[in-house]
Amino acid sequence: VCPVGAIIEKPHIHDVVDALKHKDDRIIIASTAPAVRVAISEEFGLAPGSISTGHMVAALRKCGFDKVFDTNFTADLTTVEEANEFIARVKTGGPFPMFTSCCPAWINMVEKLYPELIPNISSCRSPQAMMGSLVKTFYAKKIGVAPEKIVLTSIMPCTAKKDEIQREQLAGDTDYVLTTRELAKLFRLNDVNFSSLEESDFDSPLGLSTGAAAIFGATGGVMESALRTAYETITGKDLPSVDLNAVRGLEGIRDAVVDVDGLKVKVAIANGGANVRKLIEKVLAKEADYHFIEIMECRGGCVGGGGEPKSMDKDILPKRIGGIYKIDHDMKMRKAHQNPAIKEIYEEFLEKPNSHIAHDLLHTHYHSRKIE
Ligand code: SF4
Repeated sequence: VCPVGAIIEKPHIHDVVDALKHKDDRIIIASTAPAVRVAISEEFGLAPGSISTGHMVAALRKCGFDKVFDTNFTADLTTVEEANEFIARVKTGGPFPMFTSCCPAWINMVEKLYPELIPNISSCRSPQAMMGSLVKTFYAKKIGVAPEKIVLTSIMPCTAKKDEIQREQLAGDTDYVLTTRELAKLFRLNDVNFSSLEESDFDSPLGLSTGAAAIFGATGGVMESALRTAYETITGKDLPSVDLNAVRGLEGIRDAVVDVDGLKVKVAIANGGANVRKLIEKVLAKEADYHFIEIMECRGGCVGGGGEPKSMDKDILPKRIGGIYKIDHDMKMRKAHQNPAIKEIYEEFLEKPNSHIAHDLLHTHYHSRKIE
């Protein structure tokens, strides 16, 4: 059994099919992760790296989902919360390094193997968990429906996300998780003719996102997105270049120094379990003094997740990552803090980044489950 929950697959497809068949008076919602819109293409004979966002949304509607939201929206929200958490740590002196928290396999690893690092983990919930929380509070209230009448299915590249929704701190928010492979099965079960569908857009108010959210699907993307927002929030100036190439790539461990108006921010990125352990051992041995570290347990980040289509193509990761960066590149809005829907939800509901209500709904806590 995988100790970090990244390769345990608990099928939810029968539950989702059942919910779609017997809706009664319930609202059935889907929300899709950044990496799925690229990898789903491979299941329907398209070239690896093809972008299928509009067809994927249309296919979900065809299966009977009442609303299709975008986990990229909450990826933008994660960026804003996490960048502000990082800025607060800069002001108060740490603790450093701060680690990203959106990979549940990484959170399992910390709780089971490195609980001494718990204070260093960002308290932000993952984008999946933020979506679950907002759907069952903000959205339920907005449409005047009891949260129990909403069934939320999260579509993820990840098997560890199935484990995440059962965490006691998050229980009841997200009802089911389907992997990309299960999503393809659901489309086939519903005789969806994927590529011939007319493309469809996500629903509002939890459907608008920026290019910064798209890159959450690739290793280094969460870091790049956080740096875009942290830089502009700290300096009040536009980034000289939105593309922070220093944090991109496929090497297992990468690092960079980012100049934030004279402040030298040392960052590192690790992807793949063995690389993660190597970097963590260095941090614990005090052989590294980074300020901010992004960890993804799968090679390549979420594009290489355990729930993605199986592929014999040795270049599958760079191809999927190419699709992810193309989405970002082609978008007008490429910084999370510029997303008007994010600004709106703070004005209407969350007040401001890291506010009391944001802490209640968008942050979490961790506890030691140390394996001796
Ligand atoms: Fe899941 Fe992404 Fe972490 Fe892999 S890297 S376990 S796909 S969250």
